[in-house]
Amino acid sequence: MTTPHIIDGKSVAAAVIEECRAETAALLAQGIQPGLAVVLVGSDPASQVYVGSKARTCLDLGFHSLKIELPAETNQEQLLQVVRDLNADPAIHGILVQSPPPPHIDEEAVIRAIDPRKDVDGFHPENVAKLVLEDPTGFVPCTPAGCMKLLEVCGIPTAGAEAVVIGRSMIVGKPMALLLVSKVSNATVTIAHSRSKDLPGICRRADILIAAVGRPEMVKADWIKPGAVVIDVGINRVPDASRKSGFRLTGDVAFTEVAPHCAAITPVPGGVGPMTIAMLMKNTLQAARQLSAASIAP
Ligand code: NAD
Repeated sequence: MTTPHIIDGKSVAAAVIEECRAETAALLAQGIQPGLAVVLVGSDPASQVYVGSKARTCLDLGFHSLKIELPAETNQEQLLQVVRDLNADPAIHGILVQSPPPPHIDEEAVIRAIDPRKDVDGFHPENVAKLVLEDPTGFVPCTPAGCMKLLEVCGIPTAGAEAVVIGRSMIVGKPMALLLVSKVSNATVTIAHSRSKDLPGICRRADILIAAVGRPEMVKADWIKPGAVVIDVGINRVPDASRKSGFRLTGDVAFTEVAPHCAAITPVPGGVGPMTIAMLMKNTLQAARQLSAASIAP
């Protein structure tokens, strides 16, 4: 048993935001105001919270921030038209459509309609390909990019490390695994998922364990290799009558029992969560830089 380092995502995110503030000032001085449009269809309460904090962070940094809230009955064509208008708007450098949309919307088609040069979520197939190809002009999905930043800032070596990623979603698990196996990180990566056999045994191999499942406190103490680094991506709302909200947030890792076995671990909340918005701001600045450079190229 060790005293683990509790990775403070809030302070790392605050430092990334300060870097973004300096870069925004430099762009504003060149007459370029980074612009981010966030589109929300329907009134999912968690999505409203995320969209609100993305817009607030944009305004705090001096971005042009556009929040488009559409009713749940918005149809596919109406949503695609909003995306096309944003693609054509020169004041907008980044576009994201908050996930999940209502069930009648084909989310994949909406993602494909976003101009890949403005796809700051990094979900468009062109950006997925650039991630595979390790092309730095692509956009890396914000949550796995945030996890990598936490590992980097905490000085956690990835080269040659055994990394296990639980979850194979396009938003977290797959891009996370690609980043860890890249020529920059050089980890040996296993991706586990709902059909994996002996998940506890797979996790016990991990020097770095990333949990991105969406199942509260699934990862237990006896799944952890002593001294491992555990990054908990899960954000789960668990009913809690003692809270005014009626719920509390918990991760995919049983923090209290797991932490004593780790060298370092992220808490929920206050770990990966704050990093996602910070990396979104970084991606929007990248889009603004790249689009402006392209517009002045001969
Ligand atoms: P998802 O539902 O798209 O994917 C979940 C993955 O977990 C799937 O690949 C599935 O195969 C795997 N899985 C499900 N049950 C399993 C089991 N019993 N054993 C092993 N694997 C299992 O979810 P997602 O979008 O990748 O999100 C995962 C979690 O991360 C959620 O709690 C979500 O809220 C959270 N999340 C957090 C942030 C953030 O900013 N911190 C961002 C995105 C997602």
